[in-house]
Amino acid sequence: MRRVWHRIYSDFLMPPRLAEYRSLLEAALNRGYEVHSVLSFWQASRGGLDPGRRYLINRHDVDTDVGTALQMHRIEQDLGVRASYYFRLRTLNVPFMREIERAGSEASNHFEEIATVSKQKGLCTRQQVEQHMPEIRALFRSNFTYVRALTGLPMLTVASHGDFVNRRLRIANHELLNDDLRRELGIVVEAYDESLTSLFTERFTDTLYPRFWRTYSPLVAIERGDAVIQILTHPRHWRSAPLVNLADNLRRLTEGVTYEVRAVMRKGA
Ligand SMILES: [Zn+2]
Repeated sequence: MRRVWHRIYSDFLMPPRLAEYRSLLEAALNRGYEVHSVLSFWQASRGGLDPGRRYLINRHDVDTDVGTALQMHRIEQDLGVRASYYFRLRTLNVPFMREIERAGSEASNHFEEIATVSKQKGLCTRQQVEQHMPEIRALFRSNFTYVRALTGLPMLTVASHGDFVNRRLRIANHELLNDDLRRELGIVVEAYDESLTSLFTERFTDTLYPRFWRTYSPLVAIERGDAVIQILTHPRHWRSAPLVNLADNLRRLTEGVTYEVRAVMRKGA
């Protein structure tokens, strides 16, 4: 019951936390951190990280609520810092994505094709997903090249989205991204690649009220002066957009029910 209340509060009642977002970035700047996109950090790391410098990788997954993402981008513009914004097909916003790139940040693809195909077909085991992998990869290729052509952006990095189906099947969307696809599409790094994440001293993800962070506030790591910090945020945790959240909650509910029905039908077939 308490979780339901926390969800309702976060989605519909929570006062905006954008001032807190600004303070977090200001704290990092005051402590001498360079604020990077995933791409700019990856490029900086290629010659080896400088132990005399501190790096903060600022990543946003735009699962919902482009309006709040835009507010976050304005704050970054004000402070002159970079970020990566990963958009799902349903949150694509071409003018905003181009603006992000013009500002020296990065906009790319938050992909979820394993979840998409699993939901469409009611796949309910790892083995079934693996059998459909050629089709899943073809869908990723087609979606990725569509977004790249639509935006005209380089999209050199991508980030995997986590859906309820991925949690259920225990398969992350990034499992689809093999070396052949990376080479073919010119993807230099995926946000969950071990080669990237192993460089992080500590990483943080935002979550629902009242905790706000998993597992503790990044301010602690900033004050401590950890060498490499990644902060992953989602717009919906920083400003409640009731209509956007209501629509998203309904969509998730419908998708959940449809998936269960398809999975039962597949089992019975
Ligand atoms: Zn996501």
